[in-house]
Amino acid sequence: MQQTLRPSALVPRGFVVESAVCDGATTLITVRHTSKASACPGCGTSSERIHSRYLRRVTDLPMAGRPVRLVVVARRFHCGAVLCGRRIFTERFDGGVLAPWARRTARVDYVVHHLGLALGGRPAASFAQRLMLPVSNDTLLRVVRRRGRPSFPPPTVVGIDDWAWRRNQRYGTIICDLERRKTITLLPDREPATAQAWLSGQPQISVVARDRGGGYALAAARALPNATQVADRWHLMENASRAFLDAVRKSMRQIRAAIGATTINPSLLTAAERIQYEGYLRREEANAAVLGMAKDGASIKEIVRRTGHSRGLVRNVLRGRRSDVFRARESSLEPHLPWLDAQWAAGHRNGAELWRRLKMQGFRGSLRVVTEWATRRRQAEKADAQSLQRIPSARTIARLMTISRDTLSKSETVTVAAIEHRLPLLVEARPWIERARASLVASFATGVIKDKAAVSAAIALRWSNGQTEGQITKLKLVKRQMYGRGKLDLLQARLLGAN
Ligand SMILES: [Zn+2]
Repeated sequence: MQQTLRPSALVPRGFVVESAVCDGATTLITVRHTSKASACPGCGTSSERIHSRYLRRVTDLPMAGRPVRLVVVARRFHCGAVLCGRRIFTERFDGGVLAPWARRTARVDYVVHHLGLALGGRPAASFAQRLMLPVSNDTLLRVVRRRGRPSFPPPTVVGIDDWAWRRNQRYGTIICDLERRKTITLLPDREPATAQAWLSGQPQISVVARDRGGGYALAAARALPNATQVADRWHLMENASRAFLDAVRKSMRQIRAAIGATTINPSLLTAAERIQYEGYLRREEANAAVLGMAKDGASIKEIVRRTGHSRGLVRNVLRGRRSDVFRARESSLEPHLPWLDAQWAAGHRNGAELWRRLKMQGFRGSLRVVTEWATRRRQAEKADAQSLQRIPSARTIARLMTISRDTLSKSETVTVAAIEHRLPLLVEARPWIERARASLVASFATGVIKDKAAVSAAIALRWSNGQTEGQITKLKLVKRQMYGRGKLDLLQARLLGAN
């Protein structure tokens, strides 16, 4: 349905346009309110008795690339209430449209507020100029402050961490609602007493995720004795991987030997070999389960009952006879390889053609076997010999060995399998807290055991401070945009408002 655009539709709700003129670069629109009466701010009584009129100039949203000034023909009313101290009052408008004393309409204030939140004072002011919204830097900051921080629903699961006002000099505390994924407050320092005071005011909190330093643990224990504390999994993993990285560095010589001896480029594997390789991974998983049970003291009989594997298989696993990458299986092509190599060297590289000629020699394998062999040869020639032999850095190896198998590429999986095969000690050192104590990462593990309850919670519960870390990143970004003007209330208003 089409409607004619009335001029009054362009100005804030409740006003009608009396006239509009262009005054140089600015559009001046004279408006009045449609209501007959207004309520006295002193006593609330509505009055229709007009005393006088006056003009109020306010900034409104720009129109057609020009700044707009509204000239509001406002009224003064007599208050008729006998006991009211005011005899005359000025017309009040809906606060959501035009607040008393405001120099901007509410819809301009809204835009200004969000510009301030998103960009900070000075950048927002220059951007506002381009939007034909003339506001100063100070005005922007004032609007952001005045609108203040939105109140937050009482949190149940919080993350608490410190963040740097200035690195190595001054720190604050950030508290996030982990369920709602929002920052809810910034505290001016990282003193346990400050955190304790804030936490005591939120007795409904049942889970506190915090770092492994002592300060927040103490604060949370005092303020919320019944809450579960969760050690920061992020720092936990970081510390663990650092300890593990050291272990990998110490073993680099053996790792080089292991990889150098068994580099398998999976792009050179045939489809059949890949299936074998995946089978290998599955077997390794089953092996690990069997070995784990044996380590826990289960008898062979019991393992057979629990896993459903045969007795012979379980025995082989326990004797370490079931962990080679590829089962030795002779390819049907094997006897013909010398002939194929010679043909290849002579420049006969068409797989189908080679297969036809092989068949005449009595080869019974399928066409695919030969074409895959040819493809592999072609790729091997293309691949840079150096890239096949390149040894990843200790950091890369540590990462490969600690992330989930599912996320590894084939070549990474092959590398990891080669290392694990040759360096069982390193497999032990992989940061599994329970197993770690006896191996290379012992010093890290000892620290973990001191904080055992919170560490177990970190493993058992889905809450972690990883999210808080994310919020700190956001905070740093906001802080950087504010240049030197990062006062806590402003920082908080921008961070929380921007959520
Ligand atoms: Zn009154």
